[in-house]
Amino acid sequence: MSKINCIGVLTSGGDAPGMNAAIRAVTRAAIFNGFRVKGIYRGYKGMLTDEIVEFKTQNVSNIIQMGGTILKTARCKEFQTPEGRKQAYDNLVKEGIDALVVIGGDGSLTGARVFATEYNFPIVGLPGTIDNDLYGTDMTIGYDTALNTIMQCVDKIRDTATSHERLFFIEVMGRDAGFLALNGAIATGCEAAIIPEISTEVDQLAELIQNGFRKSKNSSIVLVAESPITGGAMGLAERVKNEYPQYDVRVSILGHLQRGGSPTATDRILASRMGAAAIDALLEDQRNVMIGVHNDEIVYVPFFKAIKNDKPIDRTLLKTLRTLSI
Ligand code: ADP
Repeated sequence: MSKINCIGVLTSGGDAPGMNAAIRAVTRAAIFNGFRVKGIYRGYKGMLTDEIVEFKTQNVSNIIQMGGTILKTARCKEFQTPEGRKQAYDNLVKEGIDALVVIGGDGSLTGARVFATEYNFPIVGLPGTIDNDLYGTDMTIGYDTALNTIMQCVDKIRDTATSHERLFFIEVMGRDAGFLALNGAIATGCEAAIIPEISTEVDQLAELIQNGFRKSKNSSIVLVAESPITGGAMGLAERVKNEYPQYDVRVSILGHLQRGGSPTATDRILASRMGAAAIDALLEDQRNVMIGVHNDEIVYVPFFKAIKNDKPIDRTLLKTLRTLSI
């Protein structure tokens, strides 16, 4: 294995609160261990366009509490082509970067895996996504903050739902994963969560209505994971209007509110631990792994596992939600 001197760090794909804490941790832990660090702007795009800047410890001062990412993020189609990746590789060589830490979601780590294999380039990934949908880690960076934002929003909507005795469908992010919807529903005492993981098994809306979810309730709030599989909050509201016109139904889509804001203590600590662990992993000659946390311990998850496997939801949580929402 050739010796690593300079580590590049980038954030890619959807932004998530805690990415800055991760950039800080990677930078500081790398410098602490004698490496040079370069910040790559706009994800893979910056690798192609050579938007790369040397980072000293001061470059990451006063960012641990900030949402978003100081390195910016982008989606980059060219990186999906061999020509684009060649250009990115040439820039890394030019900049003297001989290892990368990639902070991002499923897509970003897929790109990292392709690039690492093609150029035999040492890469360590950090799971940065509010969706919590990466296999092999109990939590992703940004998930806890998003969950807390959802909780605050739903608590507010509850006031209106109760006053008007309405049924609310609140759509939350999660692409194809129900973690935010399910745990958000438990945290806010919602009546139900409609999530893609079980959409193909049961008609969750019909089940909800049949269970007489409004019998003892003034208001009802159902969290819906945004996904073509669930139909989304709008799709479900349409169904209620047509099939169950007795209900006064409203929709609220939380949207990008869920992505922003200062990271929670949990996310800051997670990002700090994972960032430092990424440098430990490189020191241990680990390559092509994502840093995860399992049972509160740092684990190395091979990229192919993190990307390929679907992270299962804990089905006992569904039961808990149902039990507690009578
Ligand atoms: P996220 O990381 O949040 O899941 P995306 O799915 O948009 O975000 O992926 C971010 C970027 O990762 C893409 O814009 C692209 O540059 C890169 N990427 C994704 N999939 C691949 C792939 N199969 N090959 C190469 N690069 C990829």
